[in-house]
This record gives sequence, C-alpha cells and structure tokens, in this order.
Amino acid sequence: MAKDEQNNRMEKLVSLCKRRGFIFQSSEIYGGINGFWDYGPLGAELKRNLRDTWWKAVIRQRDDVVALDASIILHPAVWKASGHVDTFSDPMSDCLLTKSRFRSDQIEPQSGTAVWFSGARSATTGHAPERPFAVLLRKNENIEQARRLAREYYAEGSVDKTTGDWMNLELLGERQEEVVNSTRFNPSNGGLLTEPRPFNLMLKTHTGPVESDDNVAYLRPETAQAIFAQFKNVVDSTRVKVPFGIAQIGKAFRNEITPRNFIFRSREFEQMELEFFIRPDEAIELLYGNVTRWEEGADLSSPQPNWGWEMWHRYWVAERTAYYAGIGLGPDVLDYYWQQPEDLAHYARATVDILFKFPFGTEELEGIAARGDFDLRQHQKHSGKPLEVFDEELKAAASALSEDQRQAFIQKTFENRSKPETTEAEISAYCHNLFKGNYLPHVIEPSAGLDRLALAILSAAYDEEVVTSDGGKSETRTVMRFHPRVAPIKCAVLPLLKNKPALVEKAREIVQSLRSQMNVFYDESGAIGRRYRRQDEAGTPFCVTVDFDTIGENGPENEGTVTLRHRDSMTQERIPITALKARLLEATL
Ligand code: ATP
Repeated sequence: MAKDEQNNRMEKLVSLCKRRGFIFQSSEIYGGINGFWDYGPLGAELKRNLRDTWWKAVIRQRDDVVALDASIILHPAVWKASGHVDTFSDPMSDCLLTKSRFRSDQIEPQSGTAVWFSGARSATTGHAPERPFAVLLRKNENIEQARRLAREYYAEGSVDKTTGDWMNLELLGERQEEVVNSTRFNPSNGGLLTEPRPFNLMLKTHTGPVESDDNVAYLRPETAQAIFAQFKNVVDSTRVKVPFGIAQIGKAFRNEITPRNFIFRSREFEQMELEFFIRPDEAIELLYGNVTRWEEGADLSSPQPNWGWEMWHRYWVAERTAYYAGIGLGPDVLDYYWQQPEDLAHYARATVDILFKFPFGTEELEGIAARGDFDLRQHQKHSGKPLEVFDEELKAAASALSEDQRQAFIQKTFENRSKPETTEAEISAYCHNLFKGNYLPHVIEPSAGLDRLALAILSAAYDEEVVTSDGGKSETRTVMRFHPRVAPIKCAVLPLLKNKPALVEKAREIVQSLRSQMNVFYDESGAIGRRYRRQDEAGTPFCVTVDFDTIGENGPENEGTVTLRHRDSMTQERIPITALKARLLEATL
C-alpha cells in the first residue's frame, strides 16, 4: 500500500471508530490526554469478545492452564527482582529547539548535510552563548534555513526575542559535515537532538497518605510478574503439575515516550499473558534418556512428555497462530519475526514476534519468548522463598541411575552449559538438586496486547465496496467484516415498519429469545436499506427482518419465518424463527 493510501485508510478507520462508538479519545471534552483511549459501546463489546476468545482458547479449552487475576499494584520489590526498576527503559532524545520528545530508537535514519555552529553573538547586547548546535539539511533545503533555526536556538534564553533582534545574531564556527543514516536530528525540522538517555517507563505512584520514597509503588508495566510472584501459591492450592500454565488478562501501564498510531501504543493498555511452565531439558533427559528438539516439519499437534523447550516454544507459536486464524486473522495478514541473537534480552533463549500488517506498517501484535528459569530464579533470590517444584517421577528416574551414570550426566550437562562462565561446581550442585527431584521450571511466555489485537481486528475488518442500491444507483458501502465470533453485535432484529404493532411485537419477541445468549440489537427507525448499512458499519454479521410474511399477512406459507441477511454477501434467505437461534449460535460461538 502506498503511504498516502495507508494514511487515508487509517484516518477513515479512526473516524469510523469515533462515529460509530468503537473508540474515543479519553477525556475528549477536556482536549484529550495523550496515550489514553476509551472504548465506546461497540468497542467495549468487541474488546470483551476478544478477551473471551483468548480466555477460552488459552484456559477454558485446555486442562493444563489455570487462571489468575492479580492486583495492578504489587510490592515494589517485585519490580526490583524482575529488573524493571533498573532496566525497563527506552532511549529518549529531545529536540534542542522545540523541546519535543522522541524515542531515539524509533527515529527514521536521515542523510544529508549537517551544518554545525559553535555559538552566536548579539551585536546589540554583546551576549555570546557558546554551545554546539546543528541543523540537518535535506534535499532542496537551503543553508539559510539552517542559519535561521540556529539563530532561533541561540536566541532562546539569551536575547529578547520580542524585538526581532535575534534574527541578526552573528553565528560562530559554522562548518558542514555529510551524514548518513543519522538519528541525531529532529525529522520534522532538522534540529539537533540531545544524546539518547534512558527513560524508565514505569508509572510511579505512592501508597498511603504520605508521599515519600518509602512508599513508592508502580502501576504494573506488564501482567506477567504477578504470575511468577504467585507461582508457589498456585502450585500449592491446585493440582497442577509441570508442564502447566498460569494465564491472566489485565491492565498494564507504561509511560511511553511517544504514544502513537491510535491505540497501537498507549500508556494504559491491556495484556493477555500466559506463563507456561515446563521441565528443564536436563530433567527431560534424566526422565526419558533423550530430549526432542525442534527440526523443520516436526509434529507440533500434540505435546509429548519428552519435548524440550524448543518444541514447546514452537508449539505455542503454532497454537497462537491457530487462535488468530479462528478470529479471522489468517496468514495473509500475519507475519513472524524471529529475533536475532543480538536482539535477544540476556535471559531469553528465543523470541518470536507475531506481527500484523497494520495500515501504518507491519508491527508486533504478540511476543512469544522462551525465558528459561530467569524470572522464578530472580524472585526466589530476592524474596528468599524457595520456588522450586518437587517432581516425584524425576526423583524416581534419577534414583535408578548408578553413580557412574550420574557422574557422566553431570559431565555432559557441564559440556552443554549455555553460559561458558558457569563453573563445574555450580553444574554439579544443579544436577544433584535435579537427582532429588527439585528444579525451577522453565517458562514459555506468549504475551499479547488486547488493544493491539482490537486494532488489528478493526483494520482487517475495514472494507469499502461499490454496490448498486435498490434504486439502481452506485454507492460506496463501508462494511466491517468482523469474524462473527468477535463481532460486537451478532444480530440486528428489524421490524419492516415501526408503526405496525404486530411486526414490532414479533421482532421484540425474537430479540428477547436471543438476548441471553448473544448481543442483539433492535432497530425500527429508517428505511430498511439504511438500517442494513448502519449494521454493516457496526460489523453485524446477521440482520433478521420481520415482515408481513412473518406475521402471516401474505398467507400461511411463510408465516413464522423471517429473512436472514448476511452482511458480507448481502444475500437474504428465509428461515423459520424456530431455527434462528441455532443458526446464529453455530456461526458466532
Ligand atoms: P514494543 O516493542 O512494541 O514496545 P514490547 O516488545 O515492549 O512492545 P512486550 O513487553 O513484549 O512489548 O509486551 C507484550 C505485548 O503487549 C506486545 O506484543 C503488545 O501487544 C502489548 N503492548 C506492549 N506495549 C504496549 C503499549 N504501549 N500499548 C499497547 N500495547 C502494548
């Protein structure tokens, strides 16, 4: 898609979202608040449906995943242990001229001629600020432009800008330099940016009546850490056994430097995260004498006891892909980015980003990381509480080994260690712990953003087509082609005329009969064609029209039937009212 077309599509989508009540700017009557959004009546239903599909796929339809609903504010020590206090930051730069902020790693690299200055002098006041400043000249830009921006920069805080004198500032030390793919300049005015500096993304608050350093707390920047912090409680209070998962959906907060692209990157958002705990590969080796590792074409359909972490990781990529297909996001709109070793966080063994082709580019929808035992180990260390599990089968398998076999196992584990700095003594202690049946489970983490998913679903659904109206005129129909499973309204019930009580009564009866199982909408106002168009824009997959045939006014033949209109094909069929609920449930569940 060309850039203009992409922008245009995005603009139309944002405008439809507001017009039809999917998404509003938060606090709009006060001018809005950057990075925060509200979901309107249709958006709230859409989001709820998405949440439900995830909950169903990840928890309800499996017997190896349980749920958690943790608090948003956790003990600050959690964020110290997880590394968020020290390292959860993005690089930030400011424009020296306009003070606008940038996420340094998201600045589009630019090439051109940088014009550097060392300072300026005012002939009237004699004032001479000395500090380096530069302006990047792109194609067709004149050096005078750089000089004007430089004068404006040096004038700030040093000469009276109201007199216009600043325009005569004498610039000092001008020199030119060719730059290639630089991210040091403001893409909109070419002005120099500050050196990138880390900016911690956690939103801080205080608990209790006194604001002091002792009661600092953070709004969680991800839902995952609460799962690790509650790991032991879940294990002790349920009958779960590794491999198993703990999943939760909830709000997360990040003080993003530059929220952008509508709801794609906001400061308050919702995550859907699963921590799937598995045995470490060494435990699998002890139990089964071998570990199944990933190779191209491996069968991922059904988990096997001797799967190593790579298989589990691939399995979850396949599961999540199947989930997306089930709500209408197929291979045509998804892509994958396997992070390169140099991109990986120090604790991650592998990470794949599932990407979606948004109108503004192909970007991350969900990340699936194999995180080893990093998180549980950190929390065990910082809390001083043991978080290991005891694995009866593992203990039994190890006790069947001879002393020589154990030594050989320790030796092999040492040779295959992932970090060269790990000592033989550390490996030996780790293996002896395994022989007793104890270990910290490793984890595979599929982590998805609910709001990003909502945006993906909205962008994939948006469509315009030219249709011929009943009167023979061509018109553009805007239609949201949501998968019926996630559509905010499943069915609209429309009496043909609102001033015919028998039609209205029958239509209301149908609404009532469907209401307990799906979101239905009753609409009696306007011409039927216009009512259909309204539902097309809301993405309602089915419209039911109650007409004179329904109430037997045209004879007994079609009495008790309604027309069922299909949103995508616009075709209509007559079906008995008695068959309606089953038909709708079949399509929307
Ligand atoms: P990004 O690189 O886009 O900032 P991330 O890699 O930091 O994302 P994770 O920490 O892996 O993201 O979070 C998991 C998921 O949470 C992301 O795939 C995304 O769907 C969602 N997410 C993260 N940050 C935001 C945000 N600011 N607004 C909306 N959703 C977000």
